[in-house]
Amino acid sequence: MDPVALAQDLIRFDTTNPPGNEKACVEYVRDLLAAAGVESRLLGSDPNRPNLVARFPGRGEAPPLLLHAHSDVVPVTGQQWTHPPFEGRIVDGHLWGRGAIDMKGGLAMMLAALLGLHAAGERPAGDVILAVVADEEDGSKAGAGYLVREHPELFEGVRYAIGEEGGAGMELGGVRMHPIVVGEKRAGWLRVTLRGPGGHGSRLSPPGTPIAQLARLLTALTEVRLPRHLTPAVDRMLTALAAALPEPLAQDLSRMRVGRAYDVIPTALPLEEGLYLDSLLRHTVNPTIVRTTEKINVIPAEVTVDLDGRILPGGFTVDDFVAEIRELIGPEPVIELLLEGARVDPATIAEPEFGAFYDTMAAILLKADPDAVPVPMVSPASTDARLFAQLGIRCYGWLPMKVPAGSGYRRLLHCADERIPVESLHFGTECLTELLRTFPAGTGPRAAKAPGTGFTGC
Ligand SMILES: [Zn+2]
Repeated sequence: MDPVALAQDLIRFDTTNPPGNEKACVEYVRDLLAAAGVESRLLGSDPNRPNLVARFPGRGEAPPLLLHAHSDVVPVTGQQWTHPPFEGRIVDGHLWGRGAIDMKGGLAMMLAALLGLHAAGERPAGDVILAVVADEEDGSKAGAGYLVREHPELFEGVRYAIGEEGGAGMELGGVRMHPIVVGEKRAGWLRVTLRGPGGHGSRLSPPGTPIAQLARLLTALTEVRLPRHLTPAVDRMLTALAAALPEPLAQDLSRMRVGRAYDVIPTALPLEEGLYLDSLLRHTVNPTIVRTTEKINVIPAEVTVDLDGRILPGGFTVDDFVAEIRELIGPEPVIELLLEGARVDPATIAEPEFGAFYDTMAAILLKADPDAVPVPMVSPASTDARLFAQLGIRCYGWLPMKVPAGSGYRRLLHCADERIPVESLHFGTECLTELLRTFPAGTGPRAAKAPGTGFTGC
């Protein structure tokens, strides 16, 4: 099964979300599986936006493994593309198109690996569940959210899951890294409302207007970072990076590990990587939308500011997060919670697991690409992993790609000219195939499922 041709086909379905329209793309996957003798189910709250779940039987020696991929993509509106985004063209050894990386390329790797093993008659240690979900790029309500809410029984006994992210995403000091995403931040979107005296725009404004408060608020939120919290996963990530990198980067990373609450970002790091890593050492908050009067001659009596907040994984609550913001902006402004990303119960998954399953992924990468370094990574953004994790599943972002150091492909996510080296699709398929062949039974609280019983579409 050729992952490149598969990815080309998938890119040609325009599943821009909103509105999604994932149906034709998902039916293509269903038909592909059916042609190989694998049944699947389409489930969803909206007939135009189905989710697909299929089960590949294993030998019953390990709990089921979940592979999840989203079929929708972000819009291309207003972007200038060198090659059309929905044609799946191959130019200069690269597959171009929206979703090439995020994540139709990844879905193609999963399908190619699963169908390749299936055609060869090989059975993994445990059943493998493939979930192709809608709506990841716009909140996941019709996608993974629906499945987790309405059909948790489909994932019973699953101990580990593989989803998007990872890939050769970080390039520092000329070293190619293979991140394995072990944790994610979650959204804590807030609205701050400032009230005070308004008035006529023709006169001097009274003290304490919402606009004057706004100036102080924006300064407080943009000039000072929230205090640092070194979580165990980020500690491990920085340690691994420091060990892999040359000086002076190594020293900078070691310094980030032991720094004090408001230390500045080390200077040897390129700005983008420095900001990225620093975002993993603290909750972050960015004012993004300011709303006030539409009238130029009115001093507004109310201003609202929406904040894109991101909360570290672990036991942190929204209250913990808001308390840190209060330290910066004071007790006066009204703060309301607009949206909280799915919180994984810390009683179920307090910290990422670095056991045999993680070691298997790292070993596969080392063997496939001996020049590169596998590193654990915490992602500042969130994926559907946050939803599947609510079922007690250990989720890893692991879509291996092999790209030249410094190529910056991940910067093309959600941007014009998204593309992936064709070789990367083969590389990822080989790594995923190896994982399906070798994933360990693992240990832990979740019970193993009964032995696989043939081709049972669920
Ligand atoms: Zn994605």
